[in-house]
Amino acid sequence: MGPLLDKFNRKVEYLRLSVTDRCDFRCVYCMSEDPCFLDKKQVLSLEELAQIAQAFTELGVSKIRLTGGEPLVRSDCDQLVAALTQLPNLRELSMTTNGSRLTKLAPSLKAAGLSRLNISLDTLDPQKFTALTRNGKLARVIAGIDAAKAAGFEKIKLNAVILKGQNDDEVIDLINFCRERSLNIAFIEEMPLGEISARASARHCSSDEVRAIIEQVYPLTLSSERTAGPARYYQMADSDCYIGFISPHSHNFCHECNRVRVTVEGQLLLCLGNENAVDLKAVLRAHPGDIAMLKQVISQAIWHKPQQHDFGGHEHNQILRFMNATGG
Ligand code: SAM
Ligand code: SF4
Repeated sequence: MGPLLDKFNRKVEYLRLSVTDRCDFRCVYCMSEDPCFLDKKQVLSLEELAQIAQAFTELGVSKIRLTGGEPLVRSDCDQLVAALTQLPNLRELSMTTNGSRLTKLAPSLKAAGLSRLNISLDTLDPQKFTALTRNGKLARVIAGIDAAKAAGFEKIKLNAVILKGQNDDEVIDLINFCRERSLNIAFIEEMPLGEISARASARHCSSDEVRAIIEQVYPLTLSSERTAGPARYYQMADSDCYIGFISPHSHNFCHECNRVRVTVEGQLLLCLGNENAVDLKAVLRAHPGDIAMLKQVISQAIWHKPQQHDFGGHEHNQILRFMNATGG
């Protein structure tokens, strides 16, 4: 069985696996101020997460990114990392984190075999940081980034969601921060997940607008660097930092999409911008330990991966999941 092909002949090689819907932050674009989190029994156990990862890697998936919610609020996250790094077909295990717990956890994650880290950082202004995350402390995240570097993580990438009137005046500061620390950075357009009423379209800042701000200071050249993902990467003449743009609104990348997501409830999401899902937790709990059955269900599901995402912004298209529940 495998490789995982869909009916548009796209090969799925990349899994984003959510390990929790919980988080110590409440970022304004990601979740509500007072979110309702899942009960423990609704959430995949460590063993179930490992079995899903095993099934995908046996079907040809070579890259897994752990995400959430905030993966590092889950207390057995380092055990999960250690278990997944034993999977023979896995080439890269990475994690997206808000960085708040890295001062404590970066060394053990490195020792457990985690290959790469993406760390989210939207602003370098402590007050704005606390406002955007509704409670986060900037100093902890910066200390976390430095701890990750000290632990030996290379090619750390920052993720920054840019919102007009909130942090669009900090694009150059964020780039300078990366230049000083030899980090890469990806600028992400806000995606309309969750309640649309909470989002003013006026704050939407397109990748082209962010790029124009950068080009006034640092002319960019398109790089051949690709990370098997939707980002397009650019470089400055005098730095080896890569600058990426993830543009779900303004640049359609669906035709080369090679990824799927599994939520912490075990829902296999075939596309971030569609509601279709297949319940892998139900399969796992009805047939415990049956990896062959799991593989069969996954293969059949992938065949039906939608051709493209649909963030139309119209009411009937609105994706009702918040990002923390989706697995960003
Ligand atoms: N808690 C971790 C973190 O913040 O890095 C991992 C999960 S978070 C959902 C993953 C990424 O999704 C973050 O970089 C975050 O900025 C991004 N994100 C969250 N909500 C988003 C939205 N509505 N549009 C675009 N990106 C979003
Ligand atoms: Fe938490 Fe990450 Fe969502 Fe922010 S973006 S609320 S850090 S899950």
